[in-house]
Amino acid sequence: MIDPGHGGEDGGAVASDGTQEADVNLQIALRLRAMAELCGVPVAMTRDSASIDYPTDADTLAARKVADQRQRVERTNAMENGVLISIHQNYYPAAGPHGAEVLYAATDRSEEFGKLLHEVLKQTLAPENRRVAAPISDEIYLMRNVHCPAVLVECGFLSNPEELEKLKSDSYDQKLALVMLSAYLQYFQTGWNL
Ligand SMILES: [Zn+2]
Repeated sequence: MIDPGHGGEDGGAVASDGTQEADVNLQIALRLRAMAELCGVPVAMTRDSASIDYPTDADTLAARKVADQRQRVERTNAMENGVLISIHQNYYPAAGPHGAEVLYAATDRSEEFGKLLHEVLKQTLAPENRRVAAPISDEIYLMRNVHCPAVLVECGFLSNPEELEKLKSDSYDQKLALVMLSAYLQYFQTGWNL
């Protein structure tokens, strides 16, 4: 299950040039879906467009956000042998911080998968990345409520001008997607090696 963070009425973080996190997340997620399909991995998405279908009885922004998160949990938990990859971008008030970060849920195999994903990221895209994969805060509703292995990838910082340019480029999005797929195949489908 690929989860492009935010969407609909929730754009997520916004870069200084107006780039919305929700759109960057979706670009990367669509690339990941296309590559997964090429490799024969059954794949679903919590959303695959900029818009979100909210229940008609959710009549405030807060209620719509809650309903959206619930739908994402339900879809993920309905998957058999599911693995969740949630895609986000970071934002910091200063321009300096950059680099991808992998956070993992408390469910079985999430930590190992998250650590492997981070390792693949480092080896292929960011040898200078000094971060380590870390447990995610239990305040993140989706990650707290899914039952399957789950990671959240903060692909980069929209607040860092250089990283923003990379994240806006198709070629970098494609590399990020390939890193996620490669880690998935290595960990969950032993024998694969891209
Ligand atoms: Zn986000």
